[in-house]
Amino acid sequence: MTRTSIGRGINMYFIYDDFFLKHENGPSHPENPDRLIAIMDALEKWQYNDRISMVSPEEADEKQLAMVHTEEYINLVKKLSSGGGLSFLDMDTGVNEYTYKSAILGAGGCFKGLDLIFGPNPGPNKFFLAARPPGHHSFPSRGSGFCIFNSIALGAKYAQKKYGIEKIAIIDFDAHHGNGTQDVFYDDGSVFYISFHQYPHYPGSGDFNEIGSGSGKGYNLNFPFIPGTKEPDYMSAIIDIVVPVVERFAPGLILVSAGYDSHFSDHMSSLGLTAVSYRKIMIAISSLAQYLCRGRMGIILEGGYEYLSLSESVLETLYGCMDISGSGDIKDRQGLEDYFVNDGDGLIGKVRNRQILKKIKDLSGVEN
Ligand SMILES: [Zn+2]
Repeated sequence: MTRTSIGRGINMYFIYDDFFLKHENGPSHPENPDRLIAIMDALEKWQYNDRISMVSPEEADEKQLAMVHTEEYINLVKKLSSGGGLSFLDMDTGVNEYTYKSAILGAGGCFKGLDLIFGPNPGPNKFFLAARPPGHHSFPSRGSGFCIFNSIALGAKYAQKKYGIEKIAIIDFDAHHGNGTQDVFYDDGSVFYISFHQYPHYPGSGDFNEIGSGSGKGYNLNFPFIPGTKEPDYMSAIIDIVVPVVERFAPGLILVSAGYDSHFSDHMSSLGLTAVSYRKIMIAISSLAQYLCRGRMGIILEGGYEYLSLSESVLETLYGCMDISGSGDIKDRQGLEDYFVNDGDGLIGKVRNRQILKKIKDLSGVEN
């Protein structure tokens, strides 16, 4: 890991700060500092960590938070946090004295990553943000599901405002539907939100017929997978549906809500991905980024509560984004399809998923 200059062979920025360890939700809570400690320990020992450039985040200010959140909600989090002790935004979303700063460092970390990949200096075109609290269940006026401020939604707004990126795709593979992110962009056709999640499951939303409204109609795509869904269905959904619809959308940036509670060993869902599944998903998404938006991509940590699978899956995610993973060899959609067909991933395992995928294909206007 290099902390200073960008050397040859550096593939990604990794944004992290020890301050993220200070936010707590209370005793025995699954969303706790040990999650990031496990990731950082694994990264330290990783054979490819010389390809990572470590970066510290800077705090987002209130004006920036207001791109997504209401003043009232920002002030509420600030006030609860400055009061010390532990208070709650909902049954399981805690606020302690460090929460506000941790959450604005998370949002600011996303901005920092975007500044790096859109900035004037040549360097990596991807970043991974390992922050907590997570964000995709955070709404403009309320936090929920362990989430305080919605970093990925803020990042999309920031990239539009500061860098004039008109269209952005957000791909969310956390086991839970990113209801906060969907809400922020539901009637906004400039940000295409795509989510894979267990359904029905927490938070209750995320059915396939939630497709956006107004000018956002057609730019919200949910894959409501049944418990037990494994990699082949994800890969089918990505290759057969996500690739063509994102290609048609032609974003200038892809952001990823990376939640690892969709791993088979994580108790927060009954989905069945493995660590290597995340590598394959990221090879596919990186390839899309490569031929649609000059490789520019930001990956933001959301859930993932089983320390070993979380840390292994994060490393596989990074590997899937690196040139050495083979993703750089895929130049077009056909190349991507060939890559995964060769991998034997063209099967759809479950009947309900097959019916849902067929309906989504019809809805999306993708040829069968
Ligand atoms: Zn989750």
